[in-house]
Amino acid sequence: MLIVLVMAMGGLVLLQMDTRKNLIRVAAIHPIAVVINKINRLSIPANNASCLKELEQRDVEFEQLAAFSQSNSCKVEYAVRLARVGKMKLDNAPLLTCRMAMQLTEFEQDTLQPTAKRLLGSEINRLKHIGTYNCRSMRKYNGILSQHAFANAIDVSGFVLNNGSTINVEKDWKGSKAKSKFLKAVASKACKSFRVSVSPDSDANHFNHLHWDAGLYRSCS
Ligand SMILES: [Zn+2]
Repeated sequence: MLIVLVMAMGGLVLLQMDTRKNLIRVAAIHPIAVVINKINRLSIPANNASCLKELEQRDVEFEQLAAFSQSNSCKVEYAVRLARVGKMKLDNAPLLTCRMAMQLTEFEQDTLQPTAKRLLGSEINRLKHIGTYNCRSMRKYNGILSQHAFANAIDVSGFVLNNGSTINVEKDWKGSKAKSKFLKAVASKACKSFRVSVSPDSDANHFNHLHWDAGLYRSCS
């Protein structure tokens, strides 16, 4: 018990130092990884019953889900199936924490729609994604759970506009045209609106999507 407590406190001190990369390298070694995963799960900010009440007040279409867990470590609480935020529908009503749904709602209103209108001359009708919940480790650090393991992340692969035009992260990220400008503006602004925003510029794993999450760490790449 004492050892677990010492490790947990050590983990907290390290977290405050904001040395994310060093921390996750160290924590990939069991059993520190177990402690970090626990801290991670417990520290999803403000994902609670009052978030669900707040979400109900917004212009959002969703279905609330009962909490569930998988393989002892992937635990999903206060989650929803999110079908629409504001004027933007989501393909397949993905599973997301209430917190993440809330942040996406604000991002749609404050950033996505105004940026699409300004740079592409049309608003967004649909967001396309390649996954939200997935009980797995981070791709780079085996043993440390991804925010996807808590349904606290989304991998956005593109958008469909009201005028029928499509924006595809894989095809349109590179280049100097309007679609590329739009994606880069959105990825950059996502750094402020979400805890983590990862773009195709970050690494080969993200060649076809933008990863946004509402977890503990802060990172923008
Ligand atoms: Zn992701």
